[in-house]
Amino acid sequence: MKRIKRSAIFLSLLLGAGYGCITIKNDGVQATGSTAHSISDAKLFTAVWMQKSAEYKALSLQAYQLADLRLQEILTTQKPARPLAIVTDIDETFLDNSPYAIHQALQGKDFDPASWNEWVSKASADTIPGAWHFFYQAASQGVTIFYVTNRDQAARAATLKNLQKFNFPNADAAHLLTMSGSSSKQARRDSIAQNYTIALLLGDNLTDFSALFDNHPSEAARAAAVLNNKELFGKRFIVLPNPNYGDWENAIYQYKHLSPEQKAAAFQKDGAGY
Ligand SMILES: [Mg+2]
Repeated sequence: MKRIKRSAIFLSLLLGAGYGCITIKNDGVQATGSTAHSISDAKLFTAVWMQKSAEYKALSLQAYQLADLRLQEILTTQKPARPLAIVTDIDETFLDNSPYAIHQALQGKDFDPASWNEWVSKASADTIPGAWHFFYQAASQGVTIFYVTNRDQAARAATLKNLQKFNFPNADAAHLLTMSGSSSKQARRDSIAQNYTIALLLGDNLTDFSALFDNHPSEAARAAAVLNNKELFGKRFIVLPNPNYGDWENAIYQYKHLSPEQKAAAFQKDGAGY
């Protein structure tokens, strides 16, 4: 996994030739406050956390090792009528796109479709710790893996190339369910469930798990839906951490397309409590 060299605090960020190549210099100069609250700074910080913190690696391993425990329990205690399947999201569930996030943030930018498609076309995303071993192990025990992603149809070939680069099981057209029309994954999960018993679902976003979380719920509704279904987490739903983006962020914006300034304002609005 590509890693960055860090020695400090002041963001003298030197943009490298590729994706995610930054050096953070400690030159003793204090950052000014003018850009301290920009969304791109926040995105940089969280993406660097994903690349550099051992805690992120530990959380990823924890998720995949829990998934394996649950799978072994299911394999030994249940006799499903249909073959077992695992449904997994791709981005920030087992592929690491933090180099893209850093590339964008260093230019003061957030996600945008054109730059994202360019990154995806490279098929160069690395894997998240623990993921490959889990899927390999599951497949070796006869469990079929389905990749259910909101990457679009145009990204299918590059996505398969990225998965096949690591020899992920079932990395073929039949097991890759990209987005076509609705961003909800429920119809795709339903189509899998016609022929398989879904043992586990893995994702970094609540919509990866259930239609309970579809239709743009508010922050409060998302939190309530999680608490009301708490028995599913760690049992049927395995969640990977993603502080860099997701519906948690979209809910803050009430799912509106905002300017960077409006986004920053939305974040600062709710900081009360101190
Ligand atoms: Mg994802």
